[in-house]
Amino acid sequence: MYRHAITFILSLIVSGAMSMTVIANPGAAVAIAIHAGSGTIRKGDFDDAREQEVRETLERAVKAGHQILTSGGSSLDAVTLAITILEDSPHFNAGKGAVFNAEARNELDASIMDGSNLSAGAVAAVHNIRNPILLARKVMSDSVHVMLMGEGAEVFARNHGIEFEDDEYFFTDHRWQQLQKAKASANPEAYQLSESPDDWFSTVGAVAIDHEGNLAAGTSTGGMTNKRWGRVGDSPIIGAGTYADNRSCAVSATGHGEYFIRATVAHDICSRVQYQGISLGDAADAVINGQLTEMGGDGGIIAMDRKGNISLTFNTAGMYRASVDTAGTVYVGIYRDE
Ligand code: ASP
Repeated sequence: MYRHAITFILSLIVSGAMSMTVIANPGAAVAIAIHAGSGTIRKGDFDDAREQEVRETLERAVKAGHQILTSGGSSLDAVTLAITILEDSPHFNAGKGAVFNAEARNELDASIMDGSNLSAGAVAAVHNIRNPILLARKVMSDSVHVMLMGEGAEVFARNHGIEFEDDEYFFTDHRWQQLQKAKASANPEAYQLSESPDDWFSTVGAVAIDHEGNLAAGTSTGGMTNKRWGRVGDSPIIGAGTYADNRSCAVSATGHGEYFIRATVAHDICSRVQYQGISLGDAADAVINGQLTEMGGDGGIIAMDRKGNISLTFNTAGMYRASVDTAGTVYVGIYRDE
């Protein structure tokens, strides 16, 4: 089932680009958190069957990532695997379930960051890449650059054995209908900001800490429905949608990217933890419910600090989220009060 991610991770090990984690501190607690978007998600918006499938996919992804951690794997591998599972689901706005842009194309962004050495990889505005997070990881491990975009990123992908899919693979009726509604609305470019049940962001992301105490974060998205061709959101921007630094925390964001970029949300949370010495929860609250909300931005984050504390903070009605904390407790949530 996780064929692509596992093959990819093995290829990195074999090529020597990545060495298997040596467990320096086997007693250290591991933890992982994931999200699959935030927004106007209210009970009754979805039928029971869809809600059940979403919950099951979140649980499967978070448990698969956790399994990597408990068997001695790295936080980078855990984050990568969890995100590929979410990208392979038609329910979330990343990989297979990506939204359509204004040209009726699926244009994908992703990034990943290693908190142990601040290395990072990102791709923006790529097409037909089955798992953009694997391409972002390749950019990190096999190039001297942090971000590749568009055609150049796709050539790099072909040269590095990254899997492509045809346009049909990415077609979902649900996303197609969203595009039609957006195009028919009075103010198409502001469609995502309307008070409609479709008004939600469903980018995916993960943060984790491994046995060595290394933090990692990753994010993958199709961006926003009806976005302009070439528009890049926060998800592939290191410091905005993704950040990880062992000295502070790891963050992955979802929401209205234009606001997250200007507020440098992910980095701001880590900076507050590092320089103000405040708790992860307080830092996330100050940025999401303070700064971002004051600017008028909607969305949320998942974050983890160097002790494995988790924050799942959003200023919207709901956020698809799941975690396994340092005690091994599994949590899955969609709505605000659960
Ligand atoms: N943050 C993403 C973007 O602006 C959208 C999302 O979170 O769904 O591209």
